[in-house]
Amino acid sequence: MLEYFKVLIMKKKGLKCKCGFTAKETKLGFLGYKINGWKCPKCKEEYHDPVEAEKILLLNKLKKTSFEVKVGQIRSNLIVRIPKEVEKALSLEKGEEITLKVSSKEKIELITA
Ligand SMILES: [Zn+2]
Repeated sequence: MLEYFKVLIMKKKGLKCKCGFTAKETKLGFLGYKINGWKCPKCKEEYHDPVEAEKILLLNKLKKTSFEVKVGQIRSNLIVRIPKEVEKALSLEKGEEITLKVSSKEKIELITA
């Protein structure tokens, strides 16, 4: 939460670079993704948005993880729960429409965008 407020302040005033210049808001590459950040026009130092960077790091961690989830039932429908970490990393919300695709006899995919 503290990081979030720091980002808001940086967005308003611009980010003061360690060289003394003001870094400008821009899109920066981060582990193969484009995220918001600031780049200093003088020394070319780059500062990534810490909230977005943290989300990418969590996403990369989750890509190497698999979750054992139990199939439940609500009335006549089978259900599976989405783990909290996945919900946060993908910014999923209740009521959101996602696509379910059967890929094979053993594989179901959920596509969020
Ligand atoms: Zn600088």
